[in-house]
Amino acid sequence: MEKPPCDFTIFGVLGDLSQRNLLPSLYQLEKVALLHPETRIIGVARHDLSQEAFLEEVRHKLQSFISEPLESETVERLLARMHYVLINLDVPEEYIRLLEVVNPQERVFVSYFSVAPSLFGPICTGLAQAGLVTPTTRVVLEKPIGRNLATSQEINDLVATVFSENQVYRIDHYLGKETVMNLLALRFANSIFTTNWDHNTIDHVQITVAEEVAIGSRWGYFDQAGQLRDMVQNHLMQILTLVAMEPPVNLNDDSLRTEKLKVLKALRPITAKNVDKRVVRGQYGPGFIKGKAVPGYLEEQGGHPASITETFVAIRVDIDNWRWAGVPFYLRTGKAMACKRSEVVINYKPLPHNIFTGNCRKLPANKLIIRLQPDEGVEIEMLNKVPGLSDGLHLKRSMLDLSFSEAFGKERIAGAYERLILEVMQGKQALFICRDEVERSWQWIDSIQEAWARTSEPLKPYPAGSWGPVASVALLARDEREWEE
Ligand code: NAP
Repeated sequence: MEKPPCDFTIFGVLGDLSQRNLLPSLYQLEKVALLHPETRIIGVARHDLSQEAFLEEVRHKLQSFISEPLESETVERLLARMHYVLINLDVPEEYIRLLEVVNPQERVFVSYFSVAPSLFGPICTGLAQAGLVTPTTRVVLEKPIGRNLATSQEINDLVATVFSENQVYRIDHYLGKETVMNLLALRFANSIFTTNWDHNTIDHVQITVAEEVAIGSRWGYFDQAGQLRDMVQNHLMQILTLVAMEPPVNLNDDSLRTEKLKVLKALRPITAKNVDKRVVRGQYGPGFIKGKAVPGYLEEQGGHPASITETFVAIRVDIDNWRWAGVPFYLRTGKAMACKRSEVVINYKPLPHNIFTGNCRKLPANKLIIRLQPDEGVEIEMLNKVPGLSDGLHLKRSMLDLSFSEAFGKERIAGAYERLILEVMQGKQALFICRDEVERSWQWIDSIQEAWARTSEPLKPYPAGSWGPVASVALLARDEREWEE
């Protein structure tokens, strides 16, 4: 249970993120009694609603966005905590209405900015003017923090005029995922991996985050961003840093973030000179996903036929430090892919000498496959002797397969937002991104965007429902490697 009670305030409570993720997560936390009995949830929006109409709206949204049957007692307990406050977030004078409900002097006041980043400044000003910012106030910022280094600095500077860094919780929901957290357990609680996790034993690492869904109605938003900004700058960078970082001293806020930051500092920049060899950018054309015809990105409703926004990126990343010298990390992410799959594949080096030449000319190297979603689990691909008395010693590739659902029962896996909301309430910052991380990550992404702007290399097409452009296969083939399929 969270330590002190808090006033958990959602700005933009009737928006998509709140309905889809925040309110359902609060319901789940209520269901398992992880909310402090005195914690209150305050919803802020600009719609003229009575308290009763607001609660009815929340009840309706919970029904729409939670797939399991709702427990009515849990819903009632959750609604009993909720208060609605009408504020036009652009009007600083209206923030004093919050004082009728929240008490930042006596309770922890959490402000969750579930709104567009253009409103972060006005909300900070409004809260400060209303006297709602105390040293214990916390603020939660949603991604994206800017669209490049300059704009992320602007947002961070604005927030810093009111909040100090130890009050700011920047969300990347991947850090709340059970399987992403398990990377820490796998690496730092198992000696077989802690001693086999560097250039001595690892040949290369692959990180894939493939989305099956196409862009559809999100075209306008997505076209301004592209896959590099939308997925690589945040989610893939977070997975990369967790895989590549040095062991943190402990799991406290700064230890973890300091080690992740060191990885970001060691990323070799990509420039106009090498971008064509290091990065593949693709855009999906018409195709079939699960047997259903899907239009190409340019033909999606509301799409612009001349858009050069990428829906797929594959990158060879080099980390210039002692541990990873000569070990490339290949990242790959795209929309409208063959299936939904997020995984990390650690490819070990082949053995220096083969004594099984009679039956196996080339010994395939071991692989550690960490399935982040779906079907969360860990597999080790290894060679075993085929049982039997036939002449010679026959080897066969087989899997040590740990499926989380089988190993830990069929219990529901907690959602990422549930964990992160709880961490904010408890004042733990380790699973949130610090300012330096966001800005370092943007700096590296900007180098790719700038390189793209200077190159004449066209976007590589791929059919919807495939694993991306052929050039992505060639990216690895050049290094005599291939993607895990
Ligand atoms: P959204 O659906 O547009 O919700 C934003 C809410 O802000 C709307 O309910 C809107 O209310 C309210 N709002 C806008 N201007 C206001 C004002 N002046 N006063 C009071 N309320 C105002 O957006 P969203 O998808 O929830 O996204 C919110 C943030 O989360 C964004 O930064 C987004 O990038 C980020 N995010 C979202 C998702 C997701 O799954 N949706 C995922 C990751 C990150 P009205 O209805 O009155 O316009």
